[in-house]
Amino acid sequence: MPVLDCSVKTCYYNEDNKCSLEGIKVEGRSADYSDDTACGSFKLRVGETMTNACGKEPTAALHVECSANKCVFNKSNKCHAEHIGIAGTTADRVDETECASFVNAEYK
Ligand code: SF4
Repeated sequence: MPVLDCSVKTCYYNEDNKCSLEGIKVEGRSADYSDDTACGSFKLRVGETMTNACGKEPTAALHVECSANKCVFNKSNKCHAEHIGIAGTTADRVDETECASFVNAEYK
């Protein structure tokens, strides 16, 4: 499972650059570049975080389902990178986030 570093501070699930979910879904079926991808699990935070609301501690490593098939780390729609970064510090919407660790196998 990839260790996740998430800079999307506006997400309900973000706590200290980690994610409170057990797994996330990264979108980008036809992605050629990082900014064509997005974290489909993003949920805009209005008020408190999930950690505050539910008491669930964020985890560093989690399951990542990913539809960005052109990425070198993608095997059968799962991410096999050791570490990934989700970017989008001021995101209000899913499409303002991205997987910064995407590497296009064709351009490698
Ligand atoms: S590194 Fe590649 S396979 Fe892993 S989540 Fe990002 S885009 Fe998907």
